[in-house]
Amino acid sequence: MDLGIKGRRAIVCAGSKGLGRGCAEALAREGVELVITARGGEALEATAKAIRDATGVSVKTVQGDITTEAGRADVLAALPDPDILITNAGGPPQGEFSGFELDDWRRAVEANMLTPIALIKAVLPKMTERKFGRILNITSYSVKAPIARLELSNGARAGLTGALASLARRVAVNNVTINHLLPGPFDTDRIRGNWRQVVAAGTSTMEELERNAVKAIPAGRLGTAEEFGNFAAFLCSAHAGFTTGQSILLDGGSYPGTL
Ligand code: NAP
Repeated sequence: MDLGIKGRRAIVCAGSKGLGRGCAEALAREGVELVITARGGEALEATAKAIRDATGVSVKTVQGDITTEAGRADVLAALPDPDILITNAGGPPQGEFSGFELDDWRRAVEANMLTPIALIKAVLPKMTERKFGRILNITSYSVKAPIARLELSNGARAGLTGALASLARRVAVNNVTINHLLPGPFDTDRIRGNWRQVVAAGTSTMEELERNAVKAIPAGRLGTAEEFGNFAAFLCSAHAGFTTGQSILLDGGSYPGTL
């Protein structure tokens, strides 16, 4: 299927690795010109080059922390009027509720709620005027099924979902959509990093954690960044204008638990 977005321009936040990279690659295969961001320059440039070499599309890089005002200003300066915006950033740290200070909550809300809101506010007027816009927020499975020890993430991402619920309906009349993709367990640095923390605490091994994770997934495996990206690209396509305000789980059937 031709997704009908060749020549469109996209910002993919946090796109040097993992799910963000999967989205960037899938959009590039459809001929979308890209601006991708990340804090680390080396992986960012390597990813940009790999995408250019594989697809021939233009890929600009903006190195910086998207959760800061300066990071957001830099990416918007590079592409102020994208047709497609994929918001993404690293998730907040794990921990115990009693151990979180108010500043931890402020950082989580800034990163995983206010950052997408600020970017959306900046790009929406032009999308509305142009009568084409596709906004996807990478959130988490935790929006539907809060995850123990990830309270900071649970709270900030649910907050984002609620904050955009009405807007996502209001903009649809102008062929602008706002949706959320909720990853379950995907095989990326993020999930392996979380497991490494558990291993460091001495309670489990990587192999045990992976085996247990997979056992709880009806599909019998972790998701891949490539399949996440392909799904995202369809939601950014010309054919997806009738889908807005949705929180869509990609979790191999894990939710709502044992059936
Ligand atoms: P990942 O493989 O660790 O990749 C994260 C990407 O984001 C990297 O390119 C990283 O590059 C970039 N990044 C992180 N913080 C950033 C920041 N502040 N500013 C700019 N770029 C930033 O992670 P992932 O698995 O793709 O996860 C993406 C999102 O999905 C996260 O919010 C995660 O919590 C959520 N999620 C993932 C899973 C899963 O199973 N993988 C499940 C549920 C939710 P730099 O480090 O160089 O900046």
